[in-house]
Formats: sequence, structure tokens, C-alpha cells
Amino acid sequence: MLTKARNLRTGRSVWQGERPPRFPKQGITKDIESDVVIIGAGISGAMQADALSEAGFSVLVVDRRGPVRGSTPASTALLQYEIDQPLTKLKRQIGEEAAIRAWRRSRLAVDGLGSRIRALSIAPVIRRDSLYLAGDVLDVAALKQEHEARRHAGIENAFLDAATLGERFGIDRDAALLGYDNIEADPVVLATGFLRMAISRGARLAWPVEIVDLDAKPRSVSLRTRDGHRIRCRHLVFCTGYELPFGEMPKGHGVLSTWALATAPQKRSLWPRCCFIWEASDPYLYMRTTPDGRIICGGEDEDFVDEDKRDALMGQKTKAIQRKLGKLLPGVSTEADYTWTGTFGASTTGLPTIGPMPDLKNCWTVMGFGGNGITYSRVGAEIIRSGLLGKGDPDAELYAFRS
Ligand SMILES: Cc1cc2nc3c(=O)[nH]c(=O)nc-3n(C[C@H](O)[C@H](O)[C@H](O)COP(=O)(O)OP(=O)(O)OC[C@H]3O[C@@H](n4cnc5c(N)ncnc54)[C@H](O)[C@@H]3O)c2cc1C
Repeated sequence: MLTKARNLRTGRSVWQGERPPRFPKQGITKDIESDVVIIGAGISGAMQADALSEAGFSVLVVDRRGPVRGSTPASTALLQYEIDQPLTKLKRQIGEEAAIRAWRRSRLAVDGLGSRIRALSIAPVIRRDSLYLAGDVLDVAALKQEHEARRHAGIENAFLDAATLGERFGIDRDAALLGYDNIEADPVVLATGFLRMAISRGARLAWPVEIVDLDAKPRSVSLRTRDGHRIRCRHLVFCTGYELPFGEMPKGHGVLSTWALATAPQKRSLWPRCCFIWEASDPYLYMRTTPDGRIICGGEDEDFVDEDKRDALMGQKTKAIQRKLGKLLPGVSTEADYTWTGTFGASTTGLPTIGPMPDLKNCWTVMGFGGNGITYSRVGAEIIRSGLLGKGDPDAELYAFRS
């Protein structure tokens, strides 16, 4: 099996309350060729298609489900440069120079993504600051060190002590870091917008089309669809989300389960500046708002992928998220209009795996793991475009496959 199908999500996410994106169904009925084939029409495949079609490649995107029907509609879509692994901890894992580069690259990726969304007029770019609350991963002293480390890396942020946090945000915690200029997005709108841009430049989108086998040769890749047709390409890019190529997990990566909810609109109860809020805790709670005043809150991650078990826990996990949300922000309503659960990724460093696949010539992958999946979809689009253009990327080694 090239990529084993999973039950990626259950329940109804807040983005599924809107009209689903419409792309005409178009299968593959004969053998065809393309410079690049992208497997997966979620947010990663959409950004990749945008980047590669603009670079002049002929692009074919295929998806067995259909466009934007995998994990992407489950995303809570906090587009953050702050990666799951604090800079102080990442330094200990991969060294100071590499850790600073990884953090800076995420900062650049969020800025680059915002610029791209604006340049293509895909959606309004809503900038949000983020509050990172002291918890069991970083206490007050460790948070202060994290503040200094980020400053040293050129990443502006402010340390708020308990009194300031209480005064400015009405939150009762020991301390927090205030970061600036992340982006609040609707992931379905973004993925749809990038796909449409690519299509307007001649990219083809074929669905439902499942790729079941591949033969990577020195100068090309030959793919076989479930219906038995052949697709020949110079380059293949896996953007298959948590349905990993050959089911192989790169070193340090894991797949888990997560839960989320969206409340009814409550514009009057929201906190100052509607910043993102998340915790330096494991597991962590995180939240954001939507333009119509809902609170999206998620977390309660569990270290398993058994989908039946995951779905059976939905009621219990929703209540836990509601309880924690109500405790942190006593003035808000925690009643949920939408509840959902999904498969999620994590890595020990908080970094994804992006780049050429070992032992498979001309095959690339974006495994945008973890809470920064969409930020890493952007990094993936940048690195792979440079790779296919033969230019290389100064940070490629940070994200390369490790065995
Ligand atoms: C609850 C939740 C909250 C999240 N919150 C955030 C967040 O706040 N911020 C953030 O940055 N990230 C977040 N993420 C992560 C982010 O959503 C994911 O990284 C992102 O959606 C993955 O997109 P993708 O395009 O890589 O995968 P997908 O959207 O899953 O798309 C992959 C596609 O590949 C197709 N496919 C697979 N195999 C084949 C094959 N053999 N042939 C044809 N098609 C195939 C599938 O059908 C699927 O449509 C969250 C994820 C979840 C579940």
C-alpha cells in the first residue's frame, strides 16, 4: 500500500458549517504525463501547486478523497511562528545555531505566507499576537530564559509577569510571553484559494484518483492509479498529510489524537486583541477566535491513533476542554456549536520532515507535522520549489529525513 487510508477526522469542524469548495470531478481515464505530480489536495498540496505552477512546471494534483477533504478542514488554523518546541529546549536537542535557524525560518514562513495570501487576494490577512502561558513545560524562570533566547535570535516578544498578565488580559497565571504577528486563518478558504490560483495557471486537479504504486527511475517517476492508468512525471511530491508514504514514520515523529470545539459567536465576551492563547504545558490547551466572534479551543492530545477509541472519547474530551476554557476565562460561554476530533502529528523536536526521499529518486515529501502543520506547509513549498529548480535551500538540512 503506497499510503494507507486513515479515518482522519470525525465530527463537524467550524469550517464545515460553510459551503464546501466546489471543484468539478475529473478522473484520469488514460495514461498521461506531467512535469510534477502532487499527491494530496489539502493545504500542503495546494501551496505546493501554487509555488510550482508559478515556477513554470506543468502540475497535476491528484487526491483520492477530493480537494480539501483530508485533515485540512479539521485544522484550527493558528498560523504561528512559535513552534511546539521552545527555543531553549530545541537548542539542547539540535544545537544553538540550528535551533535559532529553525525558529527564524518559521518566523519567515508565517510572514511569507501572509504576503502570499495578500498578493493573491485569497483572503484578508488577520494578524494576531499570541500569549504563551507558563505551565509544566516552562515555569516562570524558564519562560524568562525563553524570552531572552527569542530576543537573542531576533524574535521580538515581551515577558509579562502575573500582575501585568492579570491587568492586561484578565488571566490568572504566573507569567506569559507575548509574541507578535501570527495569522488567524480559515484553512479551507486558504487551500481552496491556492488550488484555484494554480488551476488558473494551467495546473490540473484530478479526483477521485488514488495512487497505488510507483516506480522511481533515474530521470522520471511512473505512477499507477487504482484504475490501472499510468502517470509519468519528472518529479513526484507527496503531500499526503498523516497518510504517510509506505506508512513509514521518519525518526522522532509520531501520530496522535486531538480534540477541538468552537463556541457560539460571543463578540462581547472575547479577550483583549483576540490574541492566540496557548500553554507551556503537556498536553496544552490552545485557543483563538473567529471573525464572527466564536472561540475555537483545542488540545487534550492523547498518544494513540485508534480511531474508534478517539471518537468514543469525544464527549469526555469536549467537557474537559470546556472546563479548562471556563477556568482560564471565566467570562466566556463554553457552550459548543461544533465539536470534532482528528489525527494529529508530533515530533520530538517540533520540526517537520521535508525534502527528497531517501532511496527514491525524484520523489519529495512534505510531512508538516504538529501544531505548526500549516506553517510547515509553507516551508515545504519553499524548499521543494528551490529543490526542483536546482537551487537548493540554505535551511534544507534542518528538515531533511533522519533515519
Ligand atoms: C484538530 C487539528 C488542529 C490543528 N491545528 C493546527 C493549527 O492550529 N495550526 C497549524 O498550523 N496546523 C494545525 N493542524 C495541522 C494541520 O491541519 C495539518 O498539518 C494540515 O492540515 C495537513 O495538511 P495536508 O495537506 O498535509 O494533509 P491533508 O489535508 O490530510 O491532505 C492530504 C491528502 O492526501 C490525499 N491522499 C493520501 N494518500 C493518497 C493517495 N495514495 N492517492 C491520492 N490521494 C492521497 C488524502 O486524501 C488527503 O486529502 C491541526 C490539525 C488537526 C487535526
